[in-house]
Amino acid sequence: MFRFLSKKKPLAAISIFFLFCQVGFCSEMVRVCVWSGSYKPSLESFKGKYRGQLSLIKWNRRYLVINTMDIEEYLYGVIGKEMEKSWPFEALKAQAVCSRTLIFYYRNLATKKKLPYDVSDTIYHQVYGGVYSENESIVRAVEETSNEILVAGQNGENGYNIVPSFFHACCGGHTSTASDVWGGNYPSLKGVEDPFCSGTPFYSWSKSFTQNDLKGIVGIPVSSVQVLGYNDSGRVAKIEFSGKSGSKVMTAESFRMMTVNGSTTFSSRQSLPSTLFTVRKQGNVFLFEGKGYGHGVGLCQWGAKKMAEQGKTYKEILGYYFPELCLVRVETSEDKISSAVGTVVP
Ligand SMILES: [Zn+2]
Repeated sequence: MFRFLSKKKPLAAISIFFLFCQVGFCSEMVRVCVWSGSYKPSLESFKGKYRGQLSLIKWNRRYLVINTMDIEEYLYGVIGKEMEKSWPFEALKAQAVCSRTLIFYYRNLATKKKLPYDVSDTIYHQVYGGVYSENESIVRAVEETSNEILVAGQNGENGYNIVPSFFHACCGGHTSTASDVWGGNYPSLKGVEDPFCSGTPFYSWSKSFTQNDLKGIVGIPVSSVQVLGYNDSGRVAKIEFSGKSGSKVMTAESFRMMTVNGSTTFSSRQSLPSTLFTVRKQGNVFLFEGKGYGHGVGLCQWGAKKMAEQGKTYKEILGYYFPELCLVRVETSEDKISSAVGTVVP
């Protein structure tokens, strides 16, 4: 194992910050994997890009570069990657609370799995860009919501249950119930009707897939596509692809995920933006017409932007999209990894 301490700190305050951490004033740290590969990278190329500490480790025959820092400073490098930096300040604050809550949640998962890092810097967790993605209003949005997270109910003396406050670009008029999308048990993440994102850029779309496109995606020749059911938010639950060699049934979310990868954008030709769609055959192509972009669970970012433009506060925005959750300011220490002790934010 190799360890590397960045000598060129991006901000002068960093060394003072770590001094405080070492004597115990700060314990909420996060480990972000910012590079993974089969060869040993030059750490010189990472210098100056990140706050905190950089480590190079070898794990499962791969080299990983891990950036360890305080959660609040991590968020400075996340918010501008997950939401437009120029968006209204209250929307940025709502995003900061969602992103902070999620990192607590992901960190708990990583600890249980004994991983050498808590999150990657990609869309599979939250996109993190280090100091180059920071700006003044993002730092202020993080600071003004300092240590605030969303929780569900109290967990006895252990504090509150941390709930993954997921977010997505646009729900298309109704957010999703989390268990409809991924199965599992998410009793506090239920879909809500959303009039706010109507008319925003991802609100409606249409995509054409040829028979060959679909064969490449689902792996069998496809001559017909049939929706087998819908969930309460109006999204397609199950979908069946049939052709001369048989048929395949899958959840619509599984199909959507087969059409996207880390570099897919909304306008990528062969990507399905959401599962809120209808499908019909038109000549030799299948026309999918739908609404929204993303899984639809939790905060609708375009809806949050509209709410902020209408004068709503970040607490009103979060209260709208997470009606069953409560905003608390955490006072945790690392020995309480599954729950947080906090005070309710009025
Ligand atoms: Zn929406």
